[in-house]
Amino acid sequence: MIDVGRRDFLLSATAAALASGIEPGAWAQGRTAKPLGYAIVGLGTYGHDVIMPQFANCTHSRLAAVVSGDPAKAKAVAAAHGLPSSSIYSYANFDSIRDNPDADIVYVCLPNAMHADYTIRAARAGKHVMCEKPMAISVAECEAMIAACHAANRKLMIGYRCHFEAYNLEAMRLARSGVAGRTRYVRTEHGFVQRDPSKWRLKRALAGGGSLMDMGIYSLQAARYMIGEEPVAVTARESTDRRDPRFHEVEDMIEWTLEFPSGAIAGCQSMYSANQNHVLLMGDLGRIELEPATRYDGNRMWTGKDGREQERTPPPGPGKTQFAGQLDHLARCIVDGREPIVSGEEGLRDMRIIEAIYRSAREGRTIRLGTTA
Ligand code: NAD
Repeated sequence: MIDVGRRDFLLSATAAALASGIEPGAWAQGRTAKPLGYAIVGLGTYGHDVIMPQFANCTHSRLAAVVSGDPAKAKAVAAAHGLPSSSIYSYANFDSIRDNPDADIVYVCLPNAMHADYTIRAARAGKHVMCEKPMAISVAECEAMIAACHAANRKLMIGYRCHFEAYNLEAMRLARSGVAGRTRYVRTEHGFVQRDPSKWRLKRALAGGGSLMDMGIYSLQAARYMIGEEPVAVTARESTDRRDPRFHEVEDMIEWTLEFPSGAIAGCQSMYSANQNHVLLMGDLGRIELEPATRYDGNRMWTGKDGREQERTPPPGPGKTQFAGQLDHLARCIVDGREPIVSGEEGLRDMRIIEAIYRSAREGRTIRLGTTA
């Protein structure tokens, strides 16, 4: 599924540039006269605090608009970033973004259950879409998002930042290089402690699920990109104290085993009651281990065997930061007429497996996964 070899950033199609109205040939030297404009939808922790400062690290992307339910906040944020008042949208007038040629891409940073609606509306407004993980809260929603972007001839990318993060990229490369030998298993755990029961992440209607939707998706992604195959079966078990007010609606801990065609297995876990961030690949010659594995910064990696592991520093990733690499990747895919390496189809693959994980835990049995999952 993930071909590290596809991560080249060679430039080609002037036809795509013409189609998108971007100066032909502008990217021939890896630059464009005007970087593509992003409209950030949802000025919360991720959209505002994490993503917005990253445009300073980008080459091909810039901030063009903000969309918020809080007019005072939107005004202050726009002013702080030098945006005109015409680049401020509310959720009510969001669809009029179709008339703003400055906004090429809509970046959906809203609670999970709002991803599908805003992605579909953005595509209908003629905008390309970057949508945060998890792509949506059901397979049906993911399929509708892909269909809407396809019908509008717009790109759809999922905010899987680890595909632009130096440690994870190097771990994928090492796994494929055979440094650990033949992969026998991957073990991966992701969690962070939720303290406030009133937060949207603990509300089923907005989050679509619990720790699996939010943190387990990192474990699932890591299992797939470290092993480099698609799982054929999943067996899951949930462990949640439903008396705890934080977990009346969504799961706390869930663990699942994925079986892969080569015989490798992945033991994955997520939780909302412990802080954990770990990826381990064991092969018949040794290990590749990341801990922390998928954080914004401070990730670390070791390779080796028998307690003689060597810490490794990876070569730089494709951007100044993983976020800048991710933002610029979509901009360049639009200009070059290429599919993003983490497209809507990739988000859909994860959602199919997530639905199977929940079903397995619910029904207490192994679920076989379709060959196209
Ligand atoms: P947040 O609660 O900090 O922000 C959510 C934003 O949505 C706020 O601006 C809020 O005002 C707005 N909003 C609109 N309608 C809302 C409603 N009905 N209820 C609650 N908020 C509403 O959340 P966040 O941490 O910024 O997460 C947003 C999205 O980003 C989620 O899908 C999450 O999974 C994703 N995320 C991704 C990463 C990553 O590393 N890729 C990290 C954090 C969050």
